[in-house]
Amino acid sequence: MIVMKFGGTSVAEAARIRDVVEIVRGRRSRQPVVVVSAQGGVTNALIELAESAVRGSADPAPLRERFVGLLADLQLPADLLRDEIDELAALLQGITLVGDLTTRSLDRMMSFGERCSARVVAAALDAAGISAIGVMSYDLGLLTDSHYGRAEVLPESYETIAQRFAERVSPDVVAVVTGFVARDEAGFITTLGRGGSDFTAAIFGSALGAHEIEIWTDVDGVMTSDPRIVADARRLERMSFSEAAELAYYGAKVIHPATIHPAVRHDIPIRVLNTLRPDQPGTQIVNAETAATTGVRSIASKADITLVHVTSLRMLLQHGFMARLFEVFERHRIVIDMISTSEVSVSLTTEGDTDLAAAAEELGGFAEVRVESDKAILCLVGEGLRDAPDLLDRIFGTLRTESIPVRMVSVGASRVNVSMLVDRTDEHRAVRSLHAEFFGA
Ligand code: ASP
Ligand code: MG
Repeated sequence: MIVMKFGGTSVAEAARIRDVVEIVRGRRSRQPVVVVSAQGGVTNALIELAESAVRGSADPAPLRERFVGLLADLQLPADLLRDEIDELAALLQGITLVGDLTTRSLDRMMSFGERCSARVVAAALDAAGISAIGVMSYDLGLLTDSHYGRAEVLPESYETIAQRFAERVSPDVVAVVTGFVARDEAGFITTLGRGGSDFTAAIFGSALGAHEIEIWTDVDGVMTSDPRIVADARRLERMSFSEAAELAYYGAKVIHPATIHPAVRHDIPIRVLNTLRPDQPGTQIVNAETAATTGVRSIASKADITLVHVTSLRMLLQHGFMARLFEVFERHRIVIDMISTSEVSVSLTTEGDTDLAAAAEELGGFAEVRVESDKAILCLVGEGLRDAPDLLDRIFGTLRTESIPVRMVSVGASRVNVSMLVDRTDEHRAVRSLHAEFFGA
């Protein structure tokens, strides 16, 4: 048995869904369970609808038209989604009447994307001669807490899913399961956080003991670097779970670290594949022993980083200084990425769109604060990196040759990651030169 998860772009329009049908057909002997995202753009459209409903009026007609068009293009019955679309209209009316959008209502709004998607993809498979049913993940037992918008999966879900799946889905039928959505103990719909369909795939894969979880997306797999920056970036055959988790933060089109978690625990390999080029082998993500790789595997970067220097007003960093410092960041919900400390000061980085003013003012009460914007983090990822003897020599040698100053370094926090901070204007040049150094031209 395998789980095949198709993302928003893979099910965005009729032509893509037909590709999906053929991809699933090709895997039939492996007993696929399909997990789907909403059609690309639909989740955002639903959020916008909910927000305009609070303001007084929301017009679901454009979204309805999109679905009507999709069904027509796929030659599926026009009323296939009638229940969902009626319910959506009623919910919008409710939100307008109350004039208030709770996180619970918003989760219910967002759920229509995946619910419609599962019905459409199942009907398309069925119409193409592959027996399929659309199923709501929560009907199969995916249960969460009531933290709407980013609910935590309750551990008993795994067993319930295994049990109900065996009872309700016959082996010759392909189940098309809604990604992203779940339900809490009170029966209200919840969601797992944006991009959460990958997570659903990992949960179902683990619960059902899948041999592999395939994540079908619109890239060939995980690359040695971002191909928009490095023209000769190459696809990686295979990488470890921890390498993939580190890269996820840099927006590399891999999977979210939380997603990987159930798969890691159950040691289920994940494969990232491209719906547009299904014959490509993709990248397999496996445990470190199986991956058996060492050295630099991928170079990622993230621009728009702000560097904050905080210097204690006392001569030395007193005990309790760090705690106070982090308490301020915590309270202002500022996410910190890299940290480096000296005897009297702490430097840390955060993403550029964070509003630092209020926090900086508070810190000013017991420290001197200096902010430098327009930085970029570079990150080299690979199993065993920390222990590679000449690694730092090669990195700094390369950057020195390019006259790129390094503003901050972090080695050792993770065994698979070495990161450094450079000026935003040096980002691409730094990535390219490091790529050339470690992967050749
Ligand atoms: N449709 C949801 C989102 O856009 C979940 C997903 O695509 O994975 O965030
Ligand atoms: Mg996604």
